[in-house]
Amino acid sequence: MLDIKVEMTKTPKELPSADNPLKFGTIFTDHMFIMNYEEGKGWINPRVVPYQPISLEPSAMVFHYGQEMFEGLKAYKTEDGRTLLFRPNKNAERTNRTNRRICIPEIPIEDFVQAVKTVVKIDEAWIPTKPGTSLYIRPFIIATDPFLGVRPSHSYMFMIILSPVGPYYPEGLNPVKIWIEDEYVRAVKGGIGEAKTGGNYVASLRSQVKAHDEGYSQVMWLDGVDRKYIEEVGAMNIFFKINGTLITPLLTGSILPGVTRDSVIQVCKEWGLAVEERRISIDEIYEAYQNGTLEEVFGTGTAAVISPVGGLRWGDQIMQVQDGGIGPVSQKLYDTLTGIQLGRIEDTHNWTVEV
Ligand SMILES: *Cc1c(COP(=O)(O)O)cnc(C)c1O
Repeated sequence: MLDIKVEMTKTPKELPSADNPLKFGTIFTDHMFIMNYEEGKGWINPRVVPYQPISLEPSAMVFHYGQEMFEGLKAYKTEDGRTLLFRPNKNAERTNRTNRRICIPEIPIEDFVQAVKTVVKIDEAWIPTKPGTSLYIRPFIIATDPFLGVRPSHSYMFMIILSPVGPYYPEGLNPVKIWIEDEYVRAVKGGIGEAKTGGNYVASLRSQVKAHDEGYSQVMWLDGVDRKYIEEVGAMNIFFKINGTLITPLLTGSILPGVTRDSVIQVCKEWGLAVEERRISIDEIYEAYQNGTLEEVFGTGTAAVISPVGGLRWGDQIMQVQDGGIGPVSQKLYDTLTGIQLGRIEDTHNWTVEV
């Protein structure tokens, strides 16, 4: 159990009005969680303080060699006023998998969850209640040693900031158009692709800009060796429904293991759908498209939950899926997962945790 000190703000901000569209990641709540790590002492001084700038040496290692990690999860307000988290232990476990890969000291699972619950409880009034809204929770760790040599830092800061967010797609589920990247790669097996760290995102920016310029909202990555097996999309894992079977790339080391991905696989298996985790090539997708068996494509991730894909562009080929609309499995998954998250559907898996 952490002994978390709390310093409440003396100047609370005005809560966003219910009509505010809440652009993703732009508004932050009144408080944040901070805990320091010092060699020989471990994680120390857990505290909740007013949301504020932090001060670091320009030589802090995070600025130079990118030793940092982050997580993302959400808190939801139920109709009867309870606050629910969705599978926070999974984010805590993944934090430690990331930390092991990039040499950041681990945080006990129960401490991570306690820290999230504590700061969310304090800023509970910030959880929006309109349909599709939630409180996005961003835990992250940075290396703070003032040192320009390359080695793991001896000191760190773990922080949690909170941001009220609107529905990812303001008009409800909205199919996205995806650019299949055949020039750059995001990650390779043995690299850091399965760690949730900023380095993977900086590697993706060039392609994202290119895709945006071409009118596509997200990039789909192919593997870095054969350049033909599907990996994932932006900040989402990807599923294809081909001839009645749901297929998602096998986690082989270069793909981020999503909590939403894991939840979708479990739910679909319970529905009796055939689910395969295996390597799937872009040629197989194109062939399915041509013979009319590519039934649905959707991304999965905390931000959008389910993101139907209406079109894919691969070189000169443009593949339209579901006539650019939303498939029935995508819709049912969205309704089911958001129903569980909001406490409207019975949570048979014990996935939700009350704050
Ligand atoms: C966070 C993330 C996902 C989705 O993970 P969830 O736990 O479902 O939110 C997928 N891909 C990448 C690269 C990510 O960073």
